[in-house]
Amino acid sequence: MNRIELLSLEEPRYLARVFWQHPLACLGLARHLPFNVGRLARRHLRDPELLRFIDMECYCWSVVPAAKTPLINAGMVFSDRHYGGVNYPKGGVGTIAQALATGLANHGGQVQYQSRVTRILTEQGRAVGVKLATGETYWAKRIVSNATRWDTFGALLKEEPLPKAEQRWQQRYQRSPSFLSLHLGVDSAVIPAETNCHHILLKDWSELEASYGTVFVSIPTLLDSSLAPPGHHIVHAFTPSWLNDWDNLGPTQYQAQKQAKANQVIARLGCLFPGLGQSIHHCSIGTPRSHRRFLGRRDGTYGPMPARPLPGLLTMPFNRTPLPGLYCVGDSTFPGQGLNAVAFSGFACAHRIAADLGG
Ligand SMILES: Cc1cc2nc3c(=O)[nH]c(=O)nc-3n(C[C@H](O)[C@H](O)[C@H](O)COP(=O)(O)OP(=O)(O)OC[C@H]3O[C@@H](n4cnc5c(N)ncnc54)[C@H](O)[C@@H]3O)c2cc1C
Repeated sequence: MNRIELLSLEEPRYLARVFWQHPLACLGLARHLPFNVGRLARRHLRDPELLRFIDMECYCWSVVPAAKTPLINAGMVFSDRHYGGVNYPKGGVGTIAQALATGLANHGGQVQYQSRVTRILTEQGRAVGVKLATGETYWAKRIVSNATRWDTFGALLKEEPLPKAEQRWQQRYQRSPSFLSLHLGVDSAVIPAETNCHHILLKDWSELEASYGTVFVSIPTLLDSSLAPPGHHIVHAFTPSWLNDWDNLGPTQYQAQKQAKANQVIARLGCLFPGLGQSIHHCSIGTPRSHRRFLGRRDGTYGPMPARPLPGLLTMPFNRTPLPGLYCVGDSTFPGQGLNAVAFSGFACAHRIAADLGG
């Protein structure tokens, strides 16, 4: 895959060129497109513990076990650990977004922050602009939505009938849970110096997909000490949680539940880092309601997950949509969730739009 220039798979001239340049690599990729990891793993492995481990390897980024995780997507994620190694952006992941925004500004673009789009405007069955919560309107030849497909078609286009292709997509994919997320500031003495950055906690394999079953832990200050004051570490711990557990709670109940659930996670972290509970100086707790509010995601969802085992990535939609002039990017388009995947979808969409505009 590394040898192939990756652009929009919706652009036939690019597909023909790449196939001509790398026919064997393309055939190899196409052969794996309709499969999931579980099928391949079960063909070669029998050890139940190893198969569960592969389930976890998939679940920790796709939020579904191997049987529902597309092979191509997994290939990208797993091989990314080896080509060039795992890298951490100094200053935290926010620096990636800042670098993109700076690049955009350097090329004459403008980012308008704090601007919530409430509607995609249409004229004669074509997307032609957006309306903001302030009432301002913007008009363009092409509109790109980075909201999820549920929010794009269910909220921003709610006055339009739901296209048939979107109806099919909504039957095949469902919203995955959101997360309960803790950012802790702790005394550095509680984290031994040789500790690894990432950990996963799970008591019982049968709870892999359960709410609050798997706890993901990362300690970014082990890689970049500048993120916390001297003598301190940041511990980020998050675990799957559904919005239903948090909706319809009054302010007092909501605060009490946040603290109670956070205490449970902190108690579990104690098995990795004894004494952690007594060395916390700062604790921010995010819930599915926080994800919904700050990311504008329906139910605070992490992203789409297959409602049933599907043929790999074949049913994932690309960037074009049934509404002319409207494109979607992000984790509800090919090839799915994760920073690499959504970066690819943005890249592919830019290529498709340039081709549509005659570039
Ligand atoms: C706790 C957690 C840990 C994760 N860890 C990793 C990891 O280690 N590695 C990895 O690769 N991936 C990780 N992911 C997944 C990754 O963050 C997502 O797959 C990715 O951010 C999705 O990108 P996106 O552009 O589709 O959506 P988002 O990142 O949600 O971006 C959409 C943007 O659109 C904005 N928006 C939405 N609606 C509107 C509107 N109406 N008007 C204006 N703006 C709007 C939102 O505010 C948001 O900024 C993690 C996710 C979570 C929740």
